[in-house]
Amino acid sequence: MGDLSPHFSRHEFECHGNNCCDHSAPINPDLIQALEHLRDLLSKNNGLHEIPILILSGFRCQNTTNSLGRSPNRNILSDLPPT
Ligand SMILES: [Zn+2]
Repeated sequence: MGDLSPHFSRHEFECHGNNCCDHSAPINPDLIQALEHLRDLLSKNNGLHEIPILILSGFRCQNTTNSLGRSPNRNILSDLPPT
């Protein structure tokens, strides 16, 4: 059981940077609801086996994005509401 929904936890969406934003995780509740819905659909289409969805990088703050040399306009930053 996750702390955001039955299958997702806040720690999955936290920034993984060091010394940047104290592992912030601006989470849109609609995203969590959509992920739960997608997981249910995938699992139902797979019969008896549940299909997990792994969140590898839910959010990167601007400092972490800059330190990785990534474009500041990537969707991972622009699609989330301000914290
Ligand atoms: Zn950060």
